[in-house]
Amino acid sequence: MRRIVDGVWEIGIGYVHAHLIEVDDGLVLVDTGLPRKAGKLALAIRRTGHDLADLRTILMTHQHPDHMGSLAALRQRTGAQVVAHRQDVAVIAGERPQPLHHWAMRLTAPFLRTDPSPVDRALDGDGPTGVPGITAVHTPGHTPGHVSFLLDRAGGVLFVGDAATAMFGRVRASPKMTSADPALALRSAARLAELDFQVAVFGHGKAVTGDPVSRFRDFAARHR
Ligand SMILES: [Zn+2]
Ligand SMILES: [Zn+2]
Repeated sequence: MRRIVDGVWEIGIGYVHAHLIEVDDGLVLVDTGLPRKAGKLALAIRRTGHDLADLRTILMTHQHPDHMGSLAALRQRTGAQVVAHRQDVAVIAGERPQPLHHWAMRLTAPFLRTDPSPVDRALDGDGPTGVPGITAVHTPGHTPGHVSFLLDRAGGVLFVGDAATAMFGRVRASPKMTSADPALALRSAARLAELDFQVAVFGHGKAVTGDPVSRFRDFAARHR
C-alpha cells in the first residue's frame, strides 16, 4: 500500500490496484481488485487508520473481473453504495456474462470467477458521482461503460482505471486483447489530456506524478 497524496492510497492486489479516498463522512474505494481479496482490502484499510465499516461508496471504473472481483463481498460487509456506468451494469449485476472477446480472456476466466453485485447508482456519462468532489469521465472503449474519476483535491487526482496504463512515466494504451473496442479506447484516453490534474493513478502501472497532463498530451499526439 502506498500513499499517493493526502487522504489517497494505492492498494496493490496482485497485478491490479484499488484506490482508497478519505472523504468527509468516511471512505470511498475505486475498484475492488481480484476475487476473494475483501480481507486483504480490509487489512490495508486498517493500516490507513480507518475501518472497513467506514466505507460509504465503491466507484467502479469498469466490469472486468480484476476490478470487480471483491465487489459483492465488500458491498455485503459494509452496505457501501456501488456506482458504475449504466453500460457496464448488466455484467456487474450478473444479468449478462463477461464478454470474452480474446482467447487470453477465455483462458483466464475460470480463475477470475466473480460474484455479481447490485449497482446502486448508474452513471450515464460525464458528471457527478454522488460523492462531492469526485466527477465521472466516461472513457468507453476498454469496456462500453468504462469511467475514469477526477478527484478535486491536491490539484486534481485522476483515477484512470484501464482507460490507459503507464510504464516508466509514459502513458500507454491498455492491451488491445482485453479491450472491447481498442480504437475507441485510444480516443477516450486522448480526451483525458484535456482535464486538469497533478497526479494520475492507474489500474495497472505506476502512478504518474510531475505533469501527468503533458504525458497524456504526448500519448494523444502519438495516437492521432
Ligand atoms: Zn480492464
Ligand atoms: Zn484491469
